Amino acid sequence: MALAQAAAEEARAAGEVPVGAVLVRGDEVIAKGFNHPIGAHDPSAHAEMIALRAAAQAVENYRLPGCELYVTLEPCLMCAGAIMHARIARVVFGARDPKTGACGSVVDAFANPQLNHHTTVTGGVLETECGAALKSFFAERRRASREARAAARGEVPADARVETHSEPGSAEPL
Ligand SMILES: [Zn+2]
Repeated sequence: MALAQAAAEEARAAGEVPVGAVLVRGDEVIAKGFNHPIGAHDPSAHAEMIALRAAAQAVENYRLPGCELYVTLEPCLMCAGAIMHARIARVVFGARDPKTGACGSVVDAFANPQLNHHTTVTGGVLETECGAALKSFFAERRRASREARAAARGEVPADARVETHSEPGSAEPL
């Protein structure tokens, strides 16, 4: 999961929602992926999809039996479908996603025995840490958009005013 968390930070660095995934078989890391639908102009460029595609290319097989996928956020329906098509043995995810989670939060695609014959799911692994990375990203994005709105109105944002006046020595005459 630490490797998936590191991949999520690559997404953050690219300005994308920080979600990372790692695909392993036994002790071997086969592929990694990070979320970047904005930069790729691709709604399917979720971390899991990137890792699945790279792994399938690496082993030259569209099926990946015996592999485990670690991902920092609960997979969505699209990724759940791809995980089933690839016959992944096990999914381990971090934070739960109350908006699009397809492993129990919104729907549980893997609980349907007609759909899923191959994959077991373990959720909530390093849930707090994985969730904190997402929370800090969205908090930062809200702050940036507040500042942009304030700047558009020609105002100095409240945070910046506080910082200016609390700066030691800022009241000193030049
Ligand atoms: Zn997804």
